[in-house]
Amino acid sequence: MKRMLTDLDLKGKTVLLRADFNVPLDDNGNIVDDTRIYEELPTIRYILKNGAKLIICSHLGRPKGEFNQKYSMFPVAQHLIRYLLNKIYFAVDVVGPDAMQKAKALKEGEVLVLENLRFHKEEEADDLYFAKKLASMADIYIDDAFGTIHRKHASIYRVAKLLPNNAMGFLMGKEITTITKAIQNPERPFVSILGGAKVADKIGVVTNLAEKSDYVLIGGAMAFTFLKAKGYKVGKSIVDDNSLEIAKNILENAEKNGKQIILPIDVSTSETYSPKAKAKIFNIEDIPDNYMGLDIGPKTISLYKNIIKKAKTIIWNGPMGVFEFSNFSSGTVEIAQAIAKNKGLTIVGGGDSVSAVKALKLEDKISHISTGGGATLALLEGGELPGLDALSDVPDTK
Ligand code: AMP
Repeated sequence: MKRMLTDLDLKGKTVLLRADFNVPLDDNGNIVDDTRIYEELPTIRYILKNGAKLIICSHLGRPKGEFNQKYSMFPVAQHLIRYLLNKIYFAVDVVGPDAMQKAKALKEGEVLVLENLRFHKEEEADDLYFAKKLASMADIYIDDAFGTIHRKHASIYRVAKLLPNNAMGFLMGKEITTITKAIQNPERPFVSILGGAKVADKIGVVTNLAEKSDYVLIGGAMAFTFLKAKGYKVGKSIVDDNSLEIAKNILENAEKNGKQIILPIDVSTSETYSPKAKAKIFNIEDIPDNYMGLDIGPKTISLYKNIIKKAKTIIWNGPMGVFEFSNFSSGTVEIAQAIAKNKGLTIVGGGDSVSAVKALKLEDKISHISTGGGATLALLEGGELPGLDALSDVPDTK
């Protein structure tokens, strides 16, 4: 188990916090949505309250390794003033003389925000020299940028290795402990619900969750790859032909191991991919050649809802259909509502399923909304996570 921020003695120490301040900006450089800054406040406040000097670093946008005013962290540093009474300084560089000098002069309870990490190509290259300079400013490293843990970048991986006195911040800690508990030690029945369009991106997730869950409910375009792998005709529906073999293996393994992968029994279809297209329902064995499946059908919705009702742990990633088109949104809407009604541990991750939950104003009824995108998928897949692997473990006291 990885250490938490609360496991470390921070008094008088200089803490380097890797935050995720990759906030959306408008054309004039104004912050459009400050959720990422606001949600980082508990970690920042804890560090400052415990008598540390705080240096915050983050990336913002994709400046491709060179200075670009548009992606400066300065507006973020300014924005922090709204929330904190502490003194906040800004360094016009990351590991240059301004940062070094201001870091050295920092006093307990003060904050220094560094310029955008990605103004240096060394950040994404996981450069040792760059990481050494960054680490030289601090005694302790705290990683709270969950969305980047699958990346082997200098501020995420190398710096953590160079500063073994490290731990997870509150945001990252909540993501890791909630999702890890659900996957490794779930209350059963454990139901995974997977949808969306990009099967290839999620094959690893389906494989891992099919092993760990009691039921995997599949919807979205992904379902058609699995249905085709089982020999069904799926008309013009999106199929990832390169993933057919793997889909077949996943289904066979699940059957061998007594796990249930449930596929749609009916679908809502149309002849064209259009927001105005009229929906036509077909049983799965009757999809005509000129129709494409754009949502799960009503019988599938009630089948899935019955399974969701009995679940004690639920993980949901990916919409059940083209929920952006109102005629094909019922699958996603009804599944979101059913998950919100469940009193067990419910986790929603992935951009589109999170958007659906937010649009339906169901956030408060979900135990955990994961913010990680690619990082969430990597965690669900059970693969390597450089940002997490680099952090120190809690010492074994046994
Ligand atoms: P992903 O990023 O893989 O989670 O995919 C999300 C996208 O999948 C959304 O934009 C949906 O419109 C799309 N999608 C879901 N179901 C289908 C489907 N049956 N046919 C085409 N696109 C779909």
